[in-house]
Amino acid sequence: MRLATLADRAVLLVEGGAVDIATASNGRFGTDPMAVLDDWAEFKAWAEKTDLPAATPFRTIDLTAPVPRPRQVFAVALNYRPHAAEAGHVAPEIPLLFTKFPSCIAGPHAEVELPDGNVDWELEMVAVIGRACHRVPADEAWEAVAGLTVGQDLSERRLQLTGKPAQFSLGKSYPRFGPTGPALVTPDELADRDDVAIECLLNGERVQAARTSEMIFSVPQLIEFISAVCPLYPGDLIFTGTPSGVGNRRVPQRFLGPDDVLVSRIEGLGELRQTFRSKRK
Ligand code: ZN
Repeated sequence: MRLATLADRAVLLVEGGAVDIATASNGRFGTDPMAVLDDWAEFKAWAEKTDLPAATPFRTIDLTAPVPRPRQVFAVALNYRPHAAEAGHVAPEIPLLFTKFPSCIAGPHAEVELPDGNVDWELEMVAVIGRACHRVPADEAWEAVAGLTVGQDLSERRLQLTGKPAQFSLGKSYPRFGPTGPALVTPDELADRDDVAIECLLNGERVQAARTSEMIFSVPQLIEFISAVCPLYPGDLIFTGTPSGVGNRRVPQRFLGPDDVLVSRIEGLGELRQTFRSKRK
């Protein structure tokens, strides 16, 4: 199942287009994707047994964030060994958590204004929580996941790294620094939910490529670790970390500039496409 947001309404993406959930369910489920997620188990059961009406074609550029207003956005640093190494660190012994403040969440085709500084890319798979839960053991954690989506953890490196110690969250939370989408895809759509190919292309050049099976801490391990502390809510996002190939660890360094096109692609989940423009004076 593929849940998306089209013109601010929750839709299912099916062969041939989109089905409006509020209309197809005669109002049993509302137009707000957050409300659908709050009722995820009921919704999933309904969607699986309902004969959906004919789909309406749509333009992918009109899709917005599948989870527009997450209560919490968790993100994980250094979760791929080659990325930890390129950043000059040994692999972490426990997951390293920070947040992207939720006001940065944007849709799959968001155009991003570049703030002053050095803006970098970080392709990441994002897990979306599907039920309220707390203290979830890893072997039950996939049951707490509504779906997976593609994310970019855009990061302004000067603000991120200037302080001692560094503060990760703020430089990663400018408006539209958290593009997500194009849809929330239920894990059963994937051949192996723990092993999918991910790649990031800058102006057509492949700058990151990995498989999610290479993550140091898997999605279930991350959920166990985070939920041991924080209760999780439907629609919470977990950015699961980026592989190697980010711009600030290149020689010479490389950062995003006006008119760059950044494509972030995950096997079975789809792709994001960001363009960038200068800061308005
Ligand atoms: Zn990241």
